Amino acid sequence: MLLMRRDPDTSGRFDGYAIGKFTGPTMIVSLPLISGQCRTGVTPAPAPHDTPRLIDSHGRAIRDLRLSITDRCNFRCVYCLDPDTRFMPHDRVMTIDEIERLARLCVSLGVEKIRLTGGEPTVRNDLDEIITRVSQVGAKDLALTTNGSRCDANSLRRWRDAGLSRITFSIDSLRPDRFAAMTRAKVSVETVVEAIEAASRVDFDGPVKVNAVVVRGWNDDEVADLAGLARRYGIEMRFIEFMPLDASRAWDESRLVPAAEIVERIHARFPLVAAGRVEASATSLDYVFADGTPGRVGMIAPVTRPFCGECSRLRITADAKVRPCLFSLDEWDLRPLLRGGAGDDEIARFMVDATWTKQRGHGIRSGDFRQPERTMSAIGG
Ligand code: SF4
Repeated sequence: MLLMRRDPDTSGRFDGYAIGKFTGPTMIVSLPLISGQCRTGVTPAPAPHDTPRLIDSHGRAIRDLRLSITDRCNFRCVYCLDPDTRFMPHDRVMTIDEIERLARLCVSLGVEKIRLTGGEPTVRNDLDEIITRVSQVGAKDLALTTNGSRCDANSLRRWRDAGLSRITFSIDSLRPDRFAAMTRAKVSVETVVEAIEAASRVDFDGPVKVNAVVVRGWNDDEVADLAGLARRYGIEMRFIEFMPLDASRAWDESRLVPAAEIVERIHARFPLVAAGRVEASATSLDYVFADGTPGRVGMIAPVTRPFCGECSRLRITADAKVRPCLFSLDEWDLRPLLRGGAGDDEIARFMVDATWTKQRGHGIRSGDFRQPERTMSAIGG
């Protein structure tokens, strides 16, 4: 029997739980959808294969897990969170044991790289231990995405020693007033730039990356200045096209700055040479500086140059929902299994079946695109 109840911490969305012990995949929940609503299924239909691998129905193998460890953030970026956002109750957020268990199971199903995300992962007091334990589950690479407001040379060194391979920062403006207006945070832009500089001196396995979301009318006039960060510290400055995942649902094409235009603007000050993608499933199209200055510039262009065809990513949210695609309207709830005594095989099977449901692409420019209810901060990028 299926019991439906209104989920108190998300406006209007329904969760269904199977009563009694989890008995295996047969049920799909289909509800009349309100626009943009996510459907939380109890169990995905069985995938038509028994391979212990995360594969979707379009033949793409999952090798990259984005593991959100909190939905909380100390910033309220204008393209992401509302100022009065309510966060999940703590008891809905995965424990460190659950995080480690899912990471280990995903590696056993073919995941090679794990990225810890948020919200802002550094707001978790047990982050050091999470890095230590997740770095030992057998993945080839462990990365962290942060807004850089709560890290310094000491913490970066500590995380590196605990097993962190790579780090990615977010910074959308170098102007103190605009940084404050875009992040709606009490942290100065200097604090974040200092963290980036400190990270560039730590021997991480890969280049320090810095992401900026470019929004027309907000920070599009700063792309060359931001590219200057790459030249100053020898890091990789990546520019992300604004995507419809914002809490205020203010996204429209007029606010999008296409990657081609961003390249043109940077090239006008720092001539660039195209360097392609480091691997087929990489999200970034890279450029190097024509004058040989160290550092790289990357374009993440999901709207104008989608890269869904080679997508190898799967996401697990901080409340243990499997989101096969960033823009999924379906997500699959692992928490009843994790907290209901299910064994590793059951959970692995669940993830295999959930992955099979992954949509072909985001469909942002298709006529029937619906923005997911979950915002970027509750997905984890
Ligand atoms: S939109 Fe979905 S399918 Fe496309 S790259 Fe992102 S996660 Fe992959």
